[in-house]
Amino acid sequence: MRRIDLKKVSVARSDTIRSINRQIVLNYVRERAPISRAEIAQETALQRSTISLIVDELKAQGLIEEFEGESTGGRPPTLLQLRAADAVAIGVDLSTKYTIVATSDLAGRVLEKEEFPTDANSQTTLNRIIDSARKLIKKGIDIEGIGISLPGLVDSETGNALFIPRFKWRDWNVAEEVRVATGLPVRVDNDANAMALAELWFGRPEIREVRDFILILVEEGLGTGIVFDGQVYHGVVGAAGEFGHMIIGTNAPVACASGSRECWEAFASERAALARYVKLDGGSNAYGDITFSQMMDRALNGESDARAALIETAHYLGIGISNLIKGLSPEAVIVGGQIARVWPLIAEELKTAVEENMMCRGLPSAGVIGSTLGANPRLMGALSLVLASKFASTIPT
Ligand SMILES: [Zn+2]
Repeated sequence: MRRIDLKKVSVARSDTIRSINRQIVLNYVRERAPISRAEIAQETALQRSTISLIVDELKAQGLIEEFEGESTGGRPPTLLQLRAADAVAIGVDLSTKYTIVATSDLAGRVLEKEEFPTDANSQTTLNRIIDSARKLIKKGIDIEGIGISLPGLVDSETGNALFIPRFKWRDWNVAEEVRVATGLPVRVDNDANAMALAELWFGRPEIREVRDFILILVEEGLGTGIVFDGQVYHGVVGAAGEFGHMIIGTNAPVACASGSRECWEAFASERAALARYVKLDGGSNAYGDITFSQMMDRALNGESDARAALIETAHYLGIGISNLIKGLSPEAVIVGGQIARVWPLIAEELKTAVEENMMCRGLPSAGVIGSTLGANPRLMGALSLVLASKFASTIPT
């Protein structure tokens, strides 16, 4: 049971109950659409009249829409779904290589997007984000907010990027800058936290019931997002989840962002996999300057060296994951990033490494799965910073 936070608690009133019922109906429509009023009544034990009042309110607020289902003999049923087609959110996926600015509807379907290389100068990148956002806002008057995913340390409460290692950006008040330029509310978070939020709200059915999980974002570095009891755990100033720098061994194939060859990210990031691959060319320099994505393509085409590099990397991913499971006991661990594309190649080694390292204490393990977010998980993370607030309970508990 969560301890009451006396600083935040509000006294229960009748509109608190109404607000909870509203969130229940909205989330039934979100997860089970197309669904009828009668089906919601059956599943929730809410009165039909209460549901109709709430549905009218949600329709008036533009959150859901009705359509006629197929008749099974009598009158065709009236079904409910989230309002489709209109843009309601802008997501900004700022990664170390490129930035995507995109709109989506309430269900997280991407409608329009622009992409450009991320400039190492924060002001240049900021200006391009604002230009793209303004263009998209002009087209869709109902945009309700902007969510920004950043590759670094972010205080999501203040909207400040505290440190973006790749570009050495410090104390960048990005939320405030974008808010002033666009007039829209802006939410900012670390990329792994935002992705964890997206898995929580928009992940595939197999994790829909899971309320405690860890998301591992494998990229040039290694990020983690922790979900406890259905919400993202941020820690003080948002610094939770820096497991990429826990010590895994010595003599890693690369150094971590801070120069250590002992950290998990030095063993299990994309850079570590590439370094292993390059070593396998026997000094012939045959594997030159290829990208992680190209290496994965080679592995998928059956090239044994590329496969070996990925499988060894999966082994170290598994060791780190087993440490996290021992400490946090999540129900599931989700592995995200480009590497999810070769999940069938690495899953077995990864799971074996996890199980072997769990054995010493006989502790319960957790399901390890590839990300369920599809082609652009970081963008889904950025969008969910806006979208999740539409569905989440606003009642402090
Ligand atoms: Zn480190």
